[in-house]
Amino acid sequence: MGTKDQKRLESMKVVKDELFAMTGALADERRANNVLPVIGEGSCTADIMFIGEAPGKNEAAKGLPFCGASGKFLDVMLASIGLERAKVYITNVVKDRPTDNRDPYPEEVAAYAPFLNKQMEIIQPKVIATLGRISMAYVMKNFGLLHEVQPISKIHGKVFKARALWGKDLYIIPLYHPAAALYNGSNRAKLLEDFKVLRAVI
Ligand code: URA
Repeated sequence: MGTKDQKRLESMKVVKDELFAMTGALADERRANNVLPVIGEGSCTADIMFIGEAPGKNEAAKGLPFCGASGKFLDVMLASIGLERAKVYITNVVKDRPTDNRDPYPEEVAAYAPFLNKQMEIIQPKVIATLGRISMAYVMKNFGLLHEVQPISKIHGKVFKARALWGKDLYIIPLYHPAAALYNGSNRAKLLEDFKVLRAVI
């Protein structure tokens, strides 16, 4: 492993330790429920980062992102464009599970955002694919694209160029959340089409 990879891994470990130690937001609930935070999974030198919303029940039990039904479909979509999980980085905006599976509150998004921001700076991806509305809104705002935000039904699969804090350009592609495709064939087809857009950009 090169020095750069090693440095990134070490920086990611620091973020993970901070997340485990965090108090407030959903972290106290996490401890009370004896479940795990989900920092993310994949390569710290990935060109593509997938950012979902928040862990679900399976994810909080295992401490891994997208390891339930949505994750299975994410794997299918990755395979459809010849990508493996190990080559990308997968995480969420919110790192602890809202117990009742509700949408995270804005203050929870704000409380976990520093972890995600550090992760993006460590990985410095060339492409960020957001999964679902909440991730789209946070990431687009973070990269100065608030004026471009529209309902996900309008902008899924579009490619936005942005300048990152680390001084490089990157592409942001809003995608439907895989859960939206589980029981909806039309969303499933749209997601598979949008993955082709992703393939073309990388
Ligand atoms: N949904 C998400 O947004 N993230 C996960 O990790 C799992 C389900």
